Amino acid sequence: MKLVTRAGWGARPSRYDLAYIASTKGTKVHYEGTYVPKGLADPGAHGSCAGHVRDIQASHLANTKENYSDIAYSALVCPHGTVFEGRGQHRQTGANGDQALNKAHYAVCAMLGDSGLVVPTDAMLDGLVDAIGWLRNGGSAGAEVLGHRDGYATACPGDPLYAWVKAGAKRPDGTAPQGGTSTPVPSVGGIARYQVVINGLSYGFGAKGSHVTEVGKALVKAGYGKHYRVGPSEEWTDADTRNFSDFQQSLGFEGTAPHQDADGVPGPVSLQRLLGHLPGKEVKASVVPPFPGRSAFVLGKSHPAVTTLDGGLVRKGYTRHHAGAKYEPGPLFSENCRRNVADFQRATPALAGDPDGYPGPLTWQLLLS
Ligand SMILES: [Zn+2]
Ligand SMILES: [Zn+2]
Repeated sequence: MKLVTRAGWGARPSRYDLAYIASTKGTKVHYEGTYVPKGLADPGAHGSCAGHVRDIQASHLANTKENYSDIAYSALVCPHGTVFEGRGQHRQTGANGDQALNKAHYAVCAMLGDSGLVVPTDAMLDGLVDAIGWLRNGGSAGAEVLGHRDGYATACPGDPLYAWVKAGAKRPDGTAPQGGTSTPVPSVGGIARYQVVINGLSYGFGAKGSHVTEVGKALVKAGYGKHYRVGPSEEWTDADTRNFSDFQQSLGFEGTAPHQDADGVPGPVSLQRLLGHLPGKEVKASVVPPFPGRSAFVLGKSHPAVTTLDGGLVRKGYTRHHAGAKYEPGPLFSENCRRNVADFQRATPALAGDPDGYPGPLTWQLLLS
């Protein structure tokens, strides 16, 4: 199976925390239902498939009538058979027609149109079976495979694809989707007591660490601390969950039962809104631009690399020397810039031997990574 994650295709963040879904009865198959150029199926056209997915997400986010919080589908499949993660496993889809239908089935969209590219390629059928298996194995999707038109008045997923669904949704070689039976998460009464991992850090009942204290303090500061008897601590308690639920509701999230979007267990969206950043390791590795050479840093001279250097100083907090109200990035290598670099060098063991404020390759690397 070829899978491209959300980060891989450059997904924009969800507008709200997407509703958790423990399991479904199965998966519904969709098509785009607009014009899709036949050329998208050319063997050399796969490079444009990720952009095609980004366009679909942009159109859904711009759809004020549906008020989507993200791309509507659980996954999408291109004519070359690659599966693109949409809302993903254990997230309620927005594609099946209404809330009840969206809770009951995941939604997989084939990049097929009602004109232009209307007949699925063999690779696409393989990819659809891959996507269905992926939702079964990792998302507890049940055995049903249906079309969007089953249960909702629509032409989707188009006659050729619907005929394939009715014939058992098999691979071109005749095999059917494998694996996966529903294993619903047992429901817990009243208050959510599960954990989520965001950027490598755990949140929810029982989670421990300084990042838990950070959330508690931010909740108090934002006015959502009324459930604390003692102050926030390093261990996540029911009081943290209750306070975080209040905060989620203030953002417009609804549903306070466990596994709904205001149940008090953070998602990336609410956490980012509370803290202004996401603690933990960035999933995306930062790429340090190549060292521009020492000639880029001459006192009183300008060079574009100085703006990049300044960005590192600001991010790492070495800005105490400045001319105006605060230190501003810019192309000029000023005496203040040199002094701020020197501060960084003094504070960094590998550089402290020669804190002259003129960046060499190692200063550049360490400041920008
Ligand atoms: Zn559909
Ligand atoms: Zn493709």
